[in-house]
Order: sequence, then structure tokens, then C-alpha cells
Amino acid sequence: MKIVIDPTRCQGHGTCAALLAEYIEMDKWHFPILNRNQLSESHLEAAKKAVQLCPELAIKIIED
Ligand code: SF4
Repeated sequence: MKIVIDPTRCQGHGTCAALLAEYIEMDKWHFPILNRNQLSESHLEAAKKAVQLCPELAIKIIED
């Protein structure tokens, strides 16, 4: 599974980085940078929460 962020939708709210600090950091303009996108099973619930809470519906979890 992978995390993907659609940069055309993202407005830089930062909820995703707060929930998935192991994967996402915010750049100096407050937009997310994916440091790795291969999602481990142990982070699946946090990733699902990030998908649900992204106000712009910019995050998806996709199967490999
Ligand atoms: S929560 Fe959504 S809108 Fe906010 S920074 Fe993350 S991807 Fe972008």
C-alpha cells in the first residue's frame, strides 16, 4: 500500500503531517512532503484517519 497526496487539492492544513509524522513533514510554505510512501501495516489506521480528516480530500491510500 502507498500514501499519495494530490498537490492540486492540498491546501496545506497539515493534519496529515500531525497524524503521520513518520511519513510526512511540512515544508517552509506549510505544504506536505512525503518522505516515504510505502505504508506499513502498523500505520494503516493512522493513514486511514489522515484520509478521513484531510479537509481537501487530497490523501489516498492505494494498493500496490
Ligand atoms: S491534511 Fe490534506 S490539505 Fe492538509 S496538508 Fe495534508 S494533504 Fe494537504
